[in-house]
Amino acid sequence: MNDKIKKLVSIFKGRNKMTDSLRFRMFAISLVCVYLIQTGIFILMGCRTLAAVNLMVCLLILTGVCSRKESNYLRWFSIVYFAACFQPLCSCVLLGWTYGFSLYNMVMIPVVFYLLYMTECIENPKKYALIYTLINCAATLVLRNIVYKGHPLYYFPVGTDFKVSFFNNIVCFLFLIIFSTLFILELTVSRRELEEQNQKLFRLANYDELTQLRNRRSILTEWKKIQRMDYCVVMGDIDNFKKVNDTYGHEQGDEVLKMVAASMSGAVEDTDYVSRWGGEEFLMIIFGDLPYTLKVAERIQQEIKKRELTVGEQKVSVTMTFGISQCSDDSRGNIDELIRQADSRLYLGKRAGKNCIIIRDE
Ligand code: GH3
Ligand code: MG
Ligand code: MG
Repeated sequence: MNDKIKKLVSIFKGRNKMTDSLRFRMFAISLVCVYLIQTGIFILMGCRTLAAVNLMVCLLILTGVCSRKESNYLRWFSIVYFAACFQPLCSCVLLGWTYGFSLYNMVMIPVVFYLLYMTECIENPKKYALIYTLINCAATLVLRNIVYKGHPLYYFPVGTDFKVSFFNNIVCFLFLIIFSTLFILELTVSRRELEEQNQKLFRLANYDELTQLRNRRSILTEWKKIQRMDYCVVMGDIDNFKKVNDTYGHEQGDEVLKMVAASMSGAVEDTDYVSRWGGEEFLMIIFGDLPYTLKVAERIQQEIKKRELTVGEQKVSVTMTFGISQCSDDSRGNIDELIRQADSRLYLGKRAGKNCIIIRDE
């Protein structure tokens, strides 16, 4: 019980969405409460026919509340909705229009849209909301005409209609306020959930899950937006990484990749870019001149040396080779050319014995 109250409070605070069953039950039970009060009023007035109609409608609605099958929602929702439209019209025919029962039929319009749109297990809610509303409007207008031409079946002392219609006005206002507020709260939660999903999807699409670095696609997209020319491109590759995998296993290889990624991220400025280019290859964009970038690459090499991993008794240490190209050289910001230059220098470094940084093509 305590949990249910907490859940309701969190819904009214706009933190959680209602479940389909809770939404339906809340609607049905609030109707039953109103009808029970009305039944009391009808009994006091001596109008037994309407009291009996109300009790029958209550019973019908409560049967729907007890049905817990999701597949039955639309059926039960429709039964409760039409009962909620039939009961006020019945009251209008028996008592006349001045008692304010027709207000309930108007209130049902926003309520039906809210309930059908928010209930996830109902397909094509627009169709049902429109059809049900049109039926409700048509029935109300036809009956308005009939009541205008005929006479009410019951007459009560002057002032009774005012008191009953005052009650009906208050209930209808409350219905509108509560259900409109819930609609907005649920829409706000849906929007927030969608934003969170979008952020997750963005992260998945642009970042490498293992190293948490940008992926190739993401760095290329960011690169195209760069307007500056004062940067260098660094292509780095872990030396003999296959041997690390073969010796210590793939999982330890993953740990090495994470350690290298953290060393690289830690060695650059927030404005620089670090990405996992693929496998054990990394590409960085460092804002600054060549001597500055060279220092960054050296810092990364020292950091990797310091952060060696321990597997059992053994220490796993790796080295990296880097190839660097400068934007302001002949390439003049041509992305493909800058990558090609950095890559060929990295290759030169590998051929020269690895664990080195190459900044020229010789
Ligand atoms: P070199 O010094 O010439 O770069 O040699 P290398 O062994 O580092 O390069 P090679 O291309 O022969 O092997 C790269 C290895 O990286 C092979 C592949 O299994 C491994 N690898 C690629 N991606 C991952 C990964 O996500 N996790 C792990 N553990 N290994 C990976
Ligand atoms: Mg390698
Ligand atoms: Mg490689």
